[in-house]
Amino acid sequence: MKYALLDRGDQLSRQLAEQLHGLAATKGLTHNEQKPDIVVSIGGDGTLLQAFHRYKDQLDCVSFVGVHTGHLGFYADWKKDEIEQLVSAMAASKPHNVIYPLLHIEVNTKSGSSSYLALNEFTLKGVDGTLVASLLINDEPFEMFRGDGIVISTPSGSTGYNKSLGGAVIHPSLEALQIAEIASINNRIYRTLGSSVILPKHHHCDIVPNPDKELHIAIDHLAVQMSGVTSITCRVSDQKVAFARYRPFPFWNRVREAFIGSKD
Ligand code: NAD
Repeated sequence: MKYALLDRGDQLSRQLAEQLHGLAATKGLTHNEQKPDIVVSIGGDGTLLQAFHRYKDQLDCVSFVGVHTGHLGFYADWKKDEIEQLVSAMAASKPHNVIYPLLHIEVNTKSGSSSYLALNEFTLKGVDGTLVASLLINDEPFEMFRGDGIVISTPSGSTGYNKSLGGAVIHPSLEALQIAEIASINNRIYRTLGSSVILPKHHHCDIVPNPDKELHIAIDHLAVQMSGVTSITCRVSDQKVAFARYRPFPFWNRVREAFIGSKD
């Protein structure tokens, strides 16, 4: 079994990474950053997002596992004092892979188009003032948006930025995407639905902004400013991500522990 490791870069994450490498060598695991079977991230959810983007071209053959150094993460579900258990589990058994859907984003500009994959979400904001854009669902005009921005999330990303915007929490076994508004202006002139919208796998949405405006575009933790954007299409990706589970940790338990508190 070959593993790759990405740590957050702080002292604790580096120490844990050293501990994991040492234990892995004694258990016969091979450290291979180029072609791993399992990618371990040590840090937080942000570190796992980085790991995902580093290995997004190998999603067919890798699965991810996350260790958190602070509070329980959504993707990082092993604690810092469980490194030994994790390495023993990696050496002893094949993991059960849980498969989560991803978001496919196509950004069309005056000079061409680029495709991206998001594990959490795609975020669109205006740079200079509000974002004005029309939103189409399945090629039919749906609404004209005016406000701070739009977030389109995956089911596993629904507990991230989307949740702060009042979006619903979606179980990652559902292949869907969710469109949430950031501070839309709703008055007699501008009107949007106001609530978040969930689309199934076979639907898609297009956002058509003013191509002369500078936009802030983020895919998970990665943000850029772009101009000349003529349209953006989002759909549930055909690709999926696998998380290696060596013990059960149901999604709703994670939601409860992260947002409500543990049972006791
Ligand atoms: P960060 O370090 O500021 O992390 C923000 C928080 O989001 C962290 O506590 C992280 O644990 C949590 N988080 C990330 N993915 C999550 C998920 N799927 N479910 C629940 N919580 C999750 O930023 P980062 O590490 O660069 O992470 C980027 C992510 O931060 C984005 O993908 C977005 O989901 C989230 N974010 C949230 C807000 C907000 O809630 N207002 C704003 C911007 C970004």
